[in-house]
Amino acid sequence: MTSTIDTAALHDWISRFAAAMNDKRDWLTELDSAIGDADHGANMARGMTAVVDKLGAGVPETIDDLLKGVGMTLVSSVGGASGPLYGTFFLRMGMTAGAVSSLDAAGLAGALRAGVDGVVARGKPEAGDKTMYDALAPAVDALDSSLADGSDLSAALSAAADAAAAGRDATLPLVARKGRASYLGDRSAGHLDPGAASSAILFETLAAAARGADG
Ligand code: ADP
Ligand code: MG
Repeated sequence: MTSTIDTAALHDWISRFAAAMNDKRDWLTELDSAIGDADHGANMARGMTAVVDKLGAGVPETIDDLLKGVGMTLVSSVGGASGPLYGTFFLRMGMTAGAVSSLDAAGLAGALRAGVDGVVARGKPEAGDKTMYDALAPAVDALDSSLADGSDLSAALSAAADAAAAGRDATLPLVARKGRASYLGDRSAGHLDPGAASSAILFETLAAAARGADG
């Protein structure tokens, strides 16, 4: 039973997310070339590479220092919409986690939800606007309901990752109402949202870090 997550496991999450952003860079860019300006993969890979470089100098002891550092690096190194949005996610998550070196399941769920609320404050996305929020919102909802049903943290994070992936897939038929893709109007339908795709990976890598999985 996994019931807590510590700074080292969250650092592992960040490393896994950075590796995945580099691995999936071309796919994310391809998605963004259909409904945006073909830079989402490059933006995320550049931002997360800057994060890893900065952490190479030493991993902070507390969760707020770790996540606030990630957020500030993303805000300063990514020019596109996704930099401030992901940056705000990590900043708010870190602020809510606080100066601790471990979180219990409720603490992690609360910090993740605060991160998602930060995305809402920043970008004003609503459900169905075809944005990263369409993956993030179902993920934190699934996390809360899984924990309420008595699942351990690792199982609840897997449920959250599944919900994020389903949310990503559900963006396919949507017409974008936020961001660059909204300029296309009806022509944005029939393509996955790139930000929802990277956000599904955010939760997939968190679940893997909590499991301590190889992949
Ligand atoms: P840019 O749109 O500046 O080129 P990216 O391509 O890196 O930036 O990121 C695009 C993604 O950002 C979109 O796929 C969408 O998920 C997300 N996004 C854009 N605008 C918003 C917004 N207002 N609220 C939430 N997410 C948004
Ligand atoms: Mg773009």
